[in-house]
Amino acid sequence: CGIVGYIGLNDAKEILLRGLEKLEYRGYDSAGIAVSNAGGVSLFKSKGRIADLRDIVDESTEAQTGIGHTRWATHGVPNVTNAHPHQDASNRFTLVHNGVIENYDKLRREELADVQLVSDTDTEIIVQLIAKFVFGGLTTEEAFAKTLRMLHGSYAIAMLDEEEPDTIFVAKNKSPLLVGLGEEFNVVASDAMAMFQVTDQFVELHDGEMVIVTRENVRIRTLNGETISREPYKAELDA
Ligand code: GLU
Repeated sequence: CGIVGYIGLNDAKEILLRGLEKLEYRGYDSAGIAVSNAGGVSLFKSKGRIADLRDIVDESTEAQTGIGHTRWATHGVPNVTNAHPHQDASNRFTLVHNGVIENYDKLRREELADVQLVSDTDTEIIVQLIAKFVFGGLTTEEAFAKTLRMLHGSYAIAMLDEEEPDTIFVAKNKSPLLVGLGEEFNVVASDAMAMFQVTDQFVELHDGEMVIVTRENVRIRTLNGETISREPYKAELDA
């Protein structure tokens, strides 16, 4: 339903929680954030309101990178296990997703028969597939692109890799997603409103594109590896 992401020098968890609060009006059944620092990724998920999520987020977790999600369940009941972010079996990869993966059951049977899935979501197969391809020898960027090429349906995705803590991997197809630009930070949001708190400069993404977002840089490419260059625009807050 809603996605936010932040990579910079400030407290990621607060920026993510504020972003999710801005998206609350859209409705959702559960929410979660994952933040990443040198010690690894910390995951917080809850059913219900962002205020409930805030209550379980450990105040002492200092991290400058993270992703967040509000869920409107399509596959799997609303509960903590099915709430995003989702992780692969090794917990190295952490992913949020908006939309519906139409061929998730086929992918699960054909590609993930030996993986024990923990949730009932269509989303989890995305992160498990990426992990499978990375552990099979691909780079994270290659595995991300390869997995996206296999998906049918709609998605806006943001993902963390514990081994590359300075990067957020992003992709979009038929679900809204924007990248926001700042001085020494960049953000991701399914709606600019979520990140007006920190920037009004956004770069539009097109279907079938993925983005490698770091604190200093935003690199857009197609799933086949062609680099895209696109100028940011100044977003206006609707009255
Ligand atoms: N299909 C996913 C799920 O059921 C994502 C739903 C959403 O867009 O919030 O978890």
